Amino acid sequence: MALVKRLTTENPTVMFHITISIDGIGALQDELRGPHQWERTLATWHGLHNLQQTHPNLHVSVQSTISQANAHTADELLRTCLPMSENYALAFASESEFYGNQGAGIAFARDRRSAIPIVTRLVEAYPVSIRHPATVLVKLFLLGELRRLSGADTGIRCAAGAATLTLKADGSVMTCLFRSGGAFANVRADGYDLPSLLASDKALVACHSAAQCSQCWINCEAIPSMLQSPFAALSLMGAKRRLTRQAEPEMVLSPQPRLTLHTVPIEVHSQKEGRS
Ligand code: SF4
Repeated sequence: MALVKRLTTENPTVMFHITISIDGIGALQDELRGPHQWERTLATWHGLHNLQQTHPNLHVSVQSTISQANAHTADELLRTCLPMSENYALAFASESEFYGNQGAGIAFARDRRSAIPIVTRLVEAYPVSIRHPATVLVKLFLLGELRRLSGADTGIRCAAGAATLTLKADGSVMTCLFRSGGAFANVRADGYDLPSLLASDKALVACHSAAQCSQCWINCEAIPSMLQSPFAALSLMGAKRRLTRQAEPEMVLSPQPRLTLHTVPIEVHSQKEGRS
């Protein structure tokens, strides 16, 4: 908290946005993220929220990752975390070599039949705020998840390697972390000349290959990809209609809920450590 206070004080023209991870309410947060995490998460949120009152360049939101472990509480997560967030972000757990959770059985999409109604409810309940344009992207991201659950492609070219770049601690340069195929360069071995590396034939081939890939719909890559292809992203507005054959709900433009937390029950239970 002291570091955040110092950074926001010394850089008043820089906008800082901090996102807190909440994957469960009360005991479930402890079960998924470690002992006392619910209590600590709330304490952190309260501290940041108080700091916001005197530091308007600080913005605070929550991200929840929906997995097999917490999917049954997705509606409760949305209700609780929306009022705590300027841009409430939702993600869906997947299993990958990078996360070290392959075969763990936590991937949200592994049970499409139960996943589709959950995402449909999230899409309907998620409010878009004109004061916080990032909420539009979250809504479109949810619609993209819905389209993928229906078995269709989002139609959006992946921007990994073009809009985003993955640089590992060992210097490896990759389009993304989730795809096998490895690095196309190494900044340590190549004199840290990243601009030249990105203009190389290897980099262009890697970016082209990523653009053809539809292996995942991870929000950290999906959202930059939507920004790169805005018209394709807006076409996701029809995802729910195509899937459910029901009338497309109008995107709700509502004022952002007020930041209030006093109604959230604080329950602290000591549980085994886990991750989603
Ligand atoms: S779709 Fe996913 S796995 Fe494929 S390149 Fe993009 S981020 Fe990587």
